[in-house]
Amino acid sequence: MKTALVAGGAGFIGSHLCEYLLGQGYRVYAIDSLVTGRRINIEHLLANPNFSWIEHDIVAPLYMNVPCDEIYNLASPASPVDFEKIPIFILKTAAIGHMNLLNWAKMNKARILFASTSEVYGDPLEHPQKETYLGNVNCIGHRGCYDEAKRYGEAISMAFRRQYGIETRIVRIFNTYGPRMRPEDGRVIPNFFTQGLSGKPFTIYGDGKQTRSLCYVSDLVEGLHKLMLSDVADPVNVGNPDEYTILEIAKSVAAACGAQFKTEFMPLPPSDPKQRRPDITRAKELLNWSPKISLKEGFVKTLDYFKSSL
Ligand code: NAD
Ligand code: UDP
Repeated sequence: MKTALVAGGAGFIGSHLCEYLLGQGYRVYAIDSLVTGRRINIEHLLANPNFSWIEHDIVAPLYMNVPCDEIYNLASPASPVDFEKIPIFILKTAAIGHMNLLNWAKMNKARILFASTSEVYGDPLEHPQKETYLGNVNCIGHRGCYDEAKRYGEAISMAFRRQYGIETRIVRIFNTYGPRMRPEDGRVIPNFFTQGLSGKPFTIYGDGKQTRSLCYVSDLVEGLHKLMLSDVADPVNVGNPDEYTILEIAKSVAAACGAQFKTEFMPLPPSDPKQRRPDITRAKELLNWSPKISLKEGFVKTLDYFKSSL
């Protein structure tokens, strides 16, 4: 039986990953400080004898005598709302926290996957974004704490690989959504579903013409596992290349919720990227991965969740 450690395991993506790995026959340890995660996300897994969870902040060293084969580091606040509230914690989590996990991987001879992000491309001047694009990041802007944290996480992963021969993996995750996102998280999908279901106007930041490409969480999780099992050391984009404007996304959520489409235009947050779409050629060719769930299907599953959580 393989053992996996999932840092950020009580978060939105992390909890789905824990569930997936248990289904694949793994022994799973979830580590989470609950800074943005919730115990309720993993409550249904607690009775499983192959699952354990440890409340721990990865910025502090981890003293655990558990050999493990695979480490997935998903621990990081990820909502732009948190970039304003806890920027130093975000930087420490990727810098010190990820280094603690890399040391653990070194000790255990484990593979380690770092959850990076499309934000490493900043406000991209190349479209769609290939992994070879070096990005357009404003390191001193409001998103700098997150973008540079993730760029550092990638850099230190490669440093451990080059200096110690650690088996590292880097995934650049593009906007992902689905059940277990916190309704008050502040990201676009929780905001729009909450607004659609409560009859409130959709809050559109800027003119709503900026674009995003949305990946359903089950597709994403399968991509993370395929990458871990592969021998691909270079970063890999994992996301859904179907691209929509924010206004189009709001209209689709309104239709899914059966809500009237009312809008409230608000100022665009600073450094908000104007466009984002992954080039997933690398994931297709090297991992034989591509997303399967359409936005319509994903929205049906997401709607059920938000209905039950409001
Ligand atoms: P999330 O906030 O639901 O999950 C993050 C989890 O990490 C939370 O449970 C949080 O409590 C935990 N955490 C944060 N800092 C920690 C620390 N120092 N020690 C221990 N636990 C800590 O967010 P998510 O959307 O599930 O994101 C998971 C990962 O994927 C993050 O690393 C994020 O940067 C990355 N990512 C997500 C998206 C997306 O669209 N969801 C896009 C790009 C990258
Ligand atoms: N957005 C919006 N209304 C909201 C929340 C977000 O118009 O209530 C926009 C935001 O400005 C951005 C996009 O939706 O252009 C995606 O925002 P999110 O916070 O989900 O993630 P990002 O991709 O910006 O990190």
